[in-house]
Amino acid sequence: MLTAENTQEWMNKFYLKIEQNKDYLSELDTPIGDGDHGNNMMRGVEGVKQGLAQLQDPDLKTVLKTIAMGLISKVGGASGPLYGTAFLEMAKKSSDTQDINQLIDVALAGIKKRGGATEGDKTMIDVWSPVAQNDTITQQVIDDAIASTKDMLARKGRASYLGERSIGHLDPGAVSSGYLFTALLETEGT
Ligand code: ADP
Ligand code: MG
Ligand code: MG
Repeated sequence: MLTAENTQEWMNKFYLKIEQNKDYLSELDTPIGDGDHGNNMMRGVEGVKQGLAQLQDPDLKTVLKTIAMGLISKVGGASGPLYGTAFLEMAKKSSDTQDINQLIDVALAGIKKRGGATEGDKTMIDVWSPVAQNDTITQQVIDDAIASTKDMLARKGRASYLGERSIGHLDPGAVSSGYLFTALLETEGT
């Protein structure tokens, strides 16, 4: 169950993981992209941190909307509007439910609609979708989902320009999404 408090805690943990793995994310984006995913995500989590710091006693919807705006306005790359849409959809749905599984479902639907990709296209969806399908999120589900992107042929985003040569590399957005869900797992009370 998400609350304004634990969602902010979740973002603190996400920030630290991105900070720690920034170079790795950009390395993953080098052979099949333009090598900026780590820097893009770092700008995004900085934007989120700054946005959240301005709030005074916010409700959950405001927290989720602020996260979305930070990501959309600061990331720059293709991943920004997609992550942003995910949190915007969660913000909208949070008036009906604070259940994390239901919120992840609407977030995933938003990512698919916004980017036009689906499961198996070698994108962040290949982590969001298995996580959405499991009522209990585990590190094993996250790790398997990330690993599954290695053998996929990219059909959306920059990596799709490489065709067959995209095979054999992990998708950077899948890895950063993995950090998001590991951070969630480590946040108590969600
Ligand atoms: P850019 O490709 O603009 O440099 P990033 O490097 O920040 O943006 O993000 C790349 C990641 O975005 C990919 O690894 C993939 O996971 C995700 N992505 C790209 N296009 C799509 C899409 N249409 N749907 C879902 N995810 C996508
Ligand atoms: Mg990139
Ligand atoms: Mg880029």
